Amino acid sequence: MFKIQNLIGGVLTAPASGNYMYSVEPATGTGYCLLPDGDERDVEAAVEAAAAAQASWANTPATDRAMVLLRLASLIERDLEKLAQAESIDNGKPLRLARAIDIPRAAANFRFFATAIMHERSDAHLMHPTALNYTLRQPCGIVGCISPWNLPLYLFTWKIAPALATGNAVVAKPSEVTPMTAHMLGALAAEAGLPAGVLNILHGTGLKIGAAIVAHPRISAISFTGGTATGASIAAAAAPMFKKLSLELGGKNPNLIFADADFDRALDTAVAAAFTNQGEICLCGSRILVERPIYERFLSAFAKKVSQLKVGDPNDPAVDQGAIVSNDHLQKISRAVDLARSEGGFIHCGGRVPPAFNERCRGGSFYQPTVISGLPALCRTNREEIFGPVVTVTPFDDEAEAIAHANGTDYGLASLVWTNDLNRAHRVAARLDSGIVWINCWMVRDLRTPFGGMKHSGVGREGGDEALRFFTEAKNVCLRLQP
Ligand code: NDP
Repeated sequence: MFKIQNLIGGVLTAPASGNYMYSVEPATGTGYCLLPDGDERDVEAAVEAAAAAQASWANTPATDRAMVLLRLASLIERDLEKLAQAESIDNGKPLRLARAIDIPRAAANFRFFATAIMHERSDAHLMHPTALNYTLRQPCGIVGCISPWNLPLYLFTWKIAPALATGNAVVAKPSEVTPMTAHMLGALAAEAGLPAGVLNILHGTGLKIGAAIVAHPRISAISFTGGTATGASIAAAAAPMFKKLSLELGGKNPNLIFADADFDRALDTAVAAAFTNQGEICLCGSRILVERPIYERFLSAFAKKVSQLKVGDPNDPAVDQGAIVSNDHLQKISRAVDLARSEGGFIHCGGRVPPAFNERCRGGSFYQPTVISGLPALCRTNREEIFGPVVTVTPFDDEAEAIAHANGTDYGLASLVWTNDLNRAHRVAARLDSGIVWINCWMVRDLRTPFGGMKHSGVGREGGDEALRFFTEAKNVCLRLQP
């Protein structure tokens, strides 16, 4: 069985513990590779390697760093098919989705930040005639990047690309559930000419490797994407050490559909927003709020469309939904639907594991796309993140009620608003507690825009200049001007 190793100082390295864990293919339920069960000794070795490499990488001219990252983007594209297959095996997502979204976006992340640093500029503040201030933006040094399993290479590179572009050395950890494409990225980075030690990739559990990265005194910034509870424990550990923190956490995103909206577009997009990637995207619109006059019509059309979605083998190009990432997560989703039932929810479709559809996937983790109505707008099902193919549909009577329901959770990541009333669109967008508002669309992503959430959805923003600032320290230099 193939054995993933840690990448430390450019060398594939066995974990200090000597222990490995199985990585399971969720579509089949079988272990298909081994990965290191690393611990703090591996983190220590990675930090040593990063420390040895960082200054020289930071002093490499930005244009040369950019060239390495541009080559890496091209190599990801060269290996798109291999990477997409690995991503689909590891995560359970439809292969066609990994081909169309995950891997192209990983390449785009490197290309975006490689070109961004070629346009870098610095602020200057002239105190005429006394002094000139200018701002140096210098790399943080060694940074930690910790990413989740839902969009494995996409989110791993979304952190690593700006960290490397700005001259940091990185100690990174993908989710133990989806380690393969991060492992493959290490080899591509070396081929692209990234010096050894600049990118170190460690594998293991969050409690051992993740926590040891957060706790390491020489790692000065942590960029984390994952669950809100994990984010809270990272913040508690990092705060006394005054580390920079970027936390991209959970969501329970409202999709507000007003009666004047383009019905068909809202309907089609609501299906995609709820069920793409098995509903395992932090930006999924999992609470659909519909204005009363169109509520019944929307609910029946929506439930009909969702019941036609095809769940199946991720290798089948016709499937809409593949496997849930793990059996543990499947059980969590199933418990959430039981809770919805106990809260009085009516299940229009789904609400169970589908019947077996082929021999290969008999032991896999699958769940039918599920539509629930009849729940109070702010019951537990409507406030707690499920992170699976489960969506609720709830009516509202006016704009004020829609906003109150939308803002009624602890989360504040993304919102969707459907209306053809321009004034209402701006008014509602301004009042939503949400880091991202999509009006008449979903998942339209410009990498220059600030990305992140309010309230329990996180701290800080990624993307564009926000990421370049996060991975650098601003230093003001004040120069006295002689009269
Ligand atoms: P987790 O919080 O469980 O894990 C995220 C990462 O953190 C994994 O690599 C995990 O390792 C690691 N980790 C776990 N515990 C610790 C710890 N104590 N210290 C440091 N690292 C730790 O999230 P999931 O992987 O389950 O991802 C799903 C969550 O991510 C959802 O809540 C989702 O909303 C959120 N998410 C947010 C996004 C955003 O941009 N806001 C985007 C995508 C997802 P391991 O897996 O090995 O345990």
